[in-house]
Amino acid sequence: MSQNIPTEILHIDQNDSLRHFRNEFNLPEEFNGKPCIYLCGNSLGLQPKKAYEYVQLEMEKWAKMGVEGHMHGRYPWMPYHEFLTEKTAKLVGAREKEVVVMNSLTVNLHLLMVSFYRPKPDKFKILIEYNPFPSDRYALESQLRFHGYDPNEGIIELQPDEGTDIVSRKTIKDTFEKYGHEIAMTLIGGVNYYSGQFYDMRQITKWAHQYDIIAGFDLAHAAGNVPLDLHDWGVDFAAWCSYKYLNSGPGALSGVFIHDRHANSLDLPRFAGWWGHDKETRFKMGPDFVPIPGAEGWQLSNPPILPMACMQASLDLFDRAGMDQLRKKSIALSNLCEKLLKEIPGNKIELITPTKEEDRGCQISVRVINADKKLFEKISSAGVIADWREPDVIRIAPVPLYNTFEDIYRFSEILKNAIHE
Ligand SMILES: *Cc1c(COP(=O)(O)O)cnc(C)c1O
Repeated sequence: MSQNIPTEILHIDQNDSLRHFRNEFNLPEEFNGKPCIYLCGNSLGLQPKKAYEYVQLEMEKWAKMGVEGHMHGRYPWMPYHEFLTEKTAKLVGAREKEVVVMNSLTVNLHLLMVSFYRPKPDKFKILIEYNPFPSDRYALESQLRFHGYDPNEGIIELQPDEGTDIVSRKTIKDTFEKYGHEIAMTLIGGVNYYSGQFYDMRQITKWAHQYDIIAGFDLAHAAGNVPLDLHDWGVDFAAWCSYKYLNSGPGALSGVFIHDRHANSLDLPRFAGWWGHDKETRFKMGPDFVPIPGAEGWQLSNPPILPMACMQASLDLFDRAGMDQLRKKSIALSNLCEKLLKEIPGNKIELITPTKEEDRGCQISVRVINADKKLFEKISSAGVIADWREPDVIRIAPVPLYNTFEDIYRFSEILKNAIHE
């Protein structure tokens, strides 16, 4: 199959120090009868082979020990979420006390807003990114209604530069200057799901704090994709899912960050459950809730062990590869992708995603002029698994843990042929 791949592309793959990580994953071998090119890690990350081992360990423990598995075995279930803490904290640039893995993403956004969305009549608005993921909008609108505000008045959506899908730094600054005194909280996708824009979270947090605004972020498309430094940036809270770049399986658990300036404050309102209760006294089953200091104090339920077992396998890989190395390869993959797409003749391709590397992660969204879904069907029948957004946008994610430069080259050839057929 590799006879028509340019040797310089093959060389880049051969010299890629992360190339062996591809073997740590189960990759779909074929799609529509063709060798599969998987470029959809922004939607569902692939399965780490070791996930089986971690899950099997817990299945066997359950079979052999029943309830005793809570206290015994290599990874007792009682503190199981703690086995994820160190690597999760590292991944998002947090202190261990500031993170916990629990629930699903939208659920966590609501729980966090219980604590951090504290509207007042003259300061109740929420600042969101341009074109946010629908679930975030639904969550925010329902929070506004819950507090008695009109969602049409309560949401300020950043606006892109004319003729683009990208919000400039100047626009963000101007928006804070104009509306800052009315805004209670931001909830901005660190990387936007559609355009792939990587927002300057450090700067947004600074501006937010100047206007006494809580800086919250949704990191569904950022965690495991771009370098994050949540503690040092001073972010107030964040949440993300783990089935996209974090490869932890469909519907897998969400991670939460709560800055340690808040994580111990017992006067913040919160919805409570027994898993957030002080570990020493939890099983005394007393009537009074005593929260665990830190993000763990926001837990409600005892967590599902099997998805957490999958997550262990994935976090191991991130830990071994390191975000710095992954980011380097990610930039190289995206730059190659951009270059090859721009070389497709006929001016049919328009990049939606920012072209500067500091403004994007590993997702490239392209608009194909005058295209319709037939184009996408053509590339699908040639083996490409990507993502189509009506009316004319293809989103692909060259993921540094398992994609190759050859994948990118093959994709661009397939797209070129499909456009010119
Ligand atoms: C993927 C994604 C979601 C999905 O929410 P779930 O609660 O995990 O189903 C929400 N928000 C954003 C920004 C996403 O990218």
